[in-house]
Amino acid sequence: MERFTILMYHMICEPRTAKEARYACPPQRFRQHMQTIKDKGFEPVSLKQVGLAMSGKAALPRNAIAITIDDGLEDNYTNAFAIMSEFNIPATIFLTTGYMGGQNSWMQGEGFPSRPMLNWTQVKEMARHGIAFGAHSVNHPRLSTLQKTAAHAEIYDSKQEIEEQLGSACEHFAYPYGDFIEQTTELVKEAGFTLGCSTRSGFNNNERSPFALHRIEVYGTDPKWKLKQKITFGHNDASLFFPVKYYVDRLTDRS
Ligand SMILES: [Zn+2]
Repeated sequence: MERFTILMYHMICEPRTAKEARYACPPQRFRQHMQTIKDKGFEPVSLKQVGLAMSGKAALPRNAIAITIDDGLEDNYTNAFAIMSEFNIPATIFLTTGYMGGQNSWMQGEGFPSRPMLNWTQVKEMARHGIAFGAHSVNHPRLSTLQKTAAHAEIYDSKQEIEEQLGSACEHFAYPYGDFIEQTTELVKEAGFTLGCSTRSGFNNNERSPFALHRIEVYGTDPKWKLKQKITFGHNDASLFFPVKYYVDRLTDRS
């Protein structure tokens, strides 16, 4: 199996505070990123294709790349949707179902400004135009800290709601904060998901557990060259010196 890459974004908007800058990718920059992906010869694929490839039912194209956006903020519709359509990107948005049509209140505890969330009308319109929706829990908790029954409800109820609203299977889960323990992946499997996305950085191949897929986080502050480095070297740490470090690591790591 060819290696493949999954990118992770959060908000597609101008940042309003310094804290938001890492998570908020301005629309113009997001457009440049999508252009860069195409220019570099990457092949955008859906997570559905990734799932089929991981279970040996289909092959992925060379340089396959899946775009994911976590949380379900309204700017995914107002700013990102047109760009994803323009570049024909079958992205996946991971919805925090307890906040649909409301505000990102769980983030305000973390020091972020108030932002509107997607509503179901917007989600349904995007679903009709090639955007896929995965689950990101109901309330965005740290799932490793919850008792089994509470964690089960967060995972299972978010899946149920998406399936009821969209009338199709919801097969992909992203762990809030990238936080999971063995109990979490077991619950995600039991609920009927086929893939679980973490926030660990790196490429994937069929040696990776489908329930701990790695993703490369793209920061709102990443210029084009940084995105190029990230998708070339498969790491979030794409400083100017990273290529040197990468080769030194390769030379010294014989294990
Ligand atoms: Zn999240």
